[in-house]
Amino acid sequence: MTDIGFVGAGAATAAASFVLDEVLPGADITVLEKSRGVCGRAATRRRDGVRYDYGANYVKSDDERVVDLLTEQLDSEGLVNVTEPIYTFDSSGTVSEGRDADEHKWSYERGLTQIAKRLFARSDATVERETRVETLTRADDAWTVTDTDGQQWGPFDILVLNPPAPQTAALLADAEWDDPLRTDLIDAVGGVDYRTIYTAVLHYPFELDVPYYALVNTDKEHDVGWISREECKGGHVPDGESLLIVQANHEWSVAHYDDSPADNVSALAEMTAGIVDDARLTAPDWTDHQGWRYAQPETGAPTGPLQSAESEDLYFLGDWVAGEARLHAALRNGLDTGERIAHAH
Ligand SMILES: Cc1cc2nc3c(=O)[nH]c(=O)nc-3n(C[C@H](O)[C@H](O)[C@H](O)COP(=O)(O)OP(=O)(O)OC[C@H]3O[C@@H](n4cnc5c(N)ncnc54)[C@H](O)[C@@H]3O)c2cc1C
Repeated sequence: MTDIGFVGAGAATAAASFVLDEVLPGADITVLEKSRGVCGRAATRRRDGVRYDYGANYVKSDDERVVDLLTEQLDSEGLVNVTEPIYTFDSSGTVSEGRDADEHKWSYERGLTQIAKRLFARSDATVERETRVETLTRADDAWTVTDTDGQQWGPFDILVLNPPAPQTAALLADAEWDDPLRTDLIDAVGGVDYRTIYTAVLHYPFELDVPYYALVNTDKEHDVGWISREECKGGHVPDGESLLIVQANHEWSVAHYDDSPADNVSALAEMTAGIVDDARLTAPDWTDHQGWRYAQPETGAPTGPLQSAESEDLYFLGDWVAGEARLHAALRNGLDTGERIAHAH
């Protein structure tokens, strides 16, 4: 029996658990997740009969193996494709028809979190929610971890870290682990820069008559980076209503991260009304918000130190390991990492 501990229940961990269950059936997998749900930044909430993905917007059909996973290996019931196009807008807020790529833009009727839920349901992994890992300890060729309540987990033969790079670097910095490798790892992982995104969720009791699913700011000069309509995802928004996901750009998000959410949401609704050219959008009937300090990695981490850590039974996985800030990349990286762990043990 190989005991494997994962820190974080993001999409990458869910994909790795799924693979390990198939190729290393003797593995005993424990996943420690700080929040109440799974799937990390591919996050879904529900309110008043509306479902909305307020982190990642969709998963693209950009990787054959992930397409096969989502359409063949997992139950694809309720997988919905957004078919409306993505238009663009510039610094002055002028909207233009955009060229749309051929890939699918998938979510689920019940939201993107279904990806991790369906993957974990197909593995024997035990997922411990509301368990924030604080300290990693290496002793006697095994890993143990301690959570913020002082509870110890392990010993694990293998430890796998999924949090965004800055949070992983902090765990390594506080680790009880005397190995010269640790300093190289902290430098490599801590050097990954992130974009911050402040998200406003705006609900309206009427439908919007526009031809696009989303608007993206292509010159990166507008305070708003992205506006999309959840009603384009089947099963998310009842007829006669609209729900907009509005993401501010990095600079605006950093400058306003700790401001009052009411002020931020109101400022983003005002800008949205200007871009979409519909004054009604300044007055949503309910709203939600989320600050994502570590929204998207700008780069990947150098692979050398990450691979060296594998000799100490320590693995890393996620979008920042893949070097691409995308959900399909996190899933693919999880599948690949799960296989590498299985082959090494
Ligand atoms: C606003 C926003 C918009 C995006 N838009 C898109 C998009 O449209 N398309 C796309 O493909 N991608 C998009 N992305 C990126 C996509 O969400 C990520 O690439 C993907 O979800 C990363 O998955 P992951 O498994 O690598 O990490 P994560 O989802 O970050 O999972 C890490 C997990 O670790 C947990 N954790 C952290 N620290 C600890 C700890 N100490 N103890 C226990 N648990 C811990 C976290 O709670 C989390 O559940 C977007 C991201 C954001 C934030």
